[in-house]
Amino acid sequence: MKAIRKLRHESGTDFVTDAPEPGRPGVGQIKVRVAAASVCGSDVSVARYTPAGQSFKLDLPVTMGHEGAGIVVDVGEGVTTFTIGDHVALESHIACFECYQCGMGNAHICERMRLLGLHVDGLFAEFCTVPARAAYKLPDSIPLEHAALLEPSGVALHAIQATGEPLLGQRVLVTGAGPVGLFIAELAMLAGAARVVVVEPNEWRREFAESRGAVAVPPTSEAGRLRAHSGRSGFDVAFEASGHPSSFPAAVEAIRGGGTYVSVGFGDAPLVIDAGEYLNRRGIRMIGSFGRLLWSTWNTLVSLVEEGRLDLAAFITHRLPLSEFDQALWLLSGDACKVLLIPSAD
Ligand SMILES: [Zn+2]
Ligand SMILES: [Zn+2]
Repeated sequence: MKAIRKLRHESGTDFVTDAPEPGRPGVGQIKVRVAAASVCGSDVSVARYTPAGQSFKLDLPVTMGHEGAGIVVDVGEGVTTFTIGDHVALESHIACFECYQCGMGNAHICERMRLLGLHVDGLFAEFCTVPARAAYKLPDSIPLEHAALLEPSGVALHAIQATGEPLLGQRVLVTGAGPVGLFIAELAMLAGAARVVVVEPNEWRREFAESRGAVAVPPTSEAGRLRAHSGRSGFDVAFEASGHPSSFPAAVEAIRGGGTYVSVGFGDAPLVIDAGEYLNRRGIRMIGSFGRLLWSTWNTLVSLVEEGRLDLAAFITHRLPLSEFDQALWLLSGDACKVLLIPSAD
């Protein structure tokens, strides 16, 4: 079968047409025919093997791809929750559901967590075998191409859930208008934020953010200039979704005293913070989020999509066959939002 494989701990990936199709699923597993898989910024890091890509500690060789949806074509022994023909979206955080963290309701940071497409064969392929516990059964009303975007939009929803605060009437800053940043902006507006300002260097992405109703501005190194875009003495909440080192100081500086900083993007290097100034004197609360809550993030997101409140289709800008993976990576660092790979396409 066709697949995008990461074979070596170095820059590069391989498109192959002779990857062995997974056989019958094992105990507790399901086999899925992948209908659509979406390319993520982290796939660019992994393909190019940047420090951020290396930080995922890949288990090679591996078939890449961790955002996607498909149809169940076979179920292994002991699987009672899925039957052949079910439509599913895949959770990329494969939890054990047995460790202490899983028991605490933190399956997304399971102590024995493996990540789809990084540690186990993922979704940039015609078929994939995954634990049934890593699949989410979809309602018929959600097309599979749209469902491929539930994983990344779930990252955005979880980041908002992690603040523990309602965004109604809040002034929200989002640094980085990649897909996750754009989803955060969209969901913040849905949640009733009074103003959503997106910082992004790429003009096409700024226009995209504005077409969705946000205010979009280019990055600035001038302290205070970004804060002025809040229209008050600072933003109530800032979401850092770019991973770029310059975004962190700019975002923290733009938050009002007592506001909240949420780390979502993955950078290539550790960040340094003046704790006395920002945490003590200004009382800024710093939190981070990773993955999605199982399964509350998924349930909430699917409700929003089912009821027509969140239009995932609006974020799909390109559809490509697996053979054009390199083109997808190139698009992702330029004028694009979500790029889908369609394994059945030539
Ligand atoms: Zn991703
Ligand atoms: Zn666990």
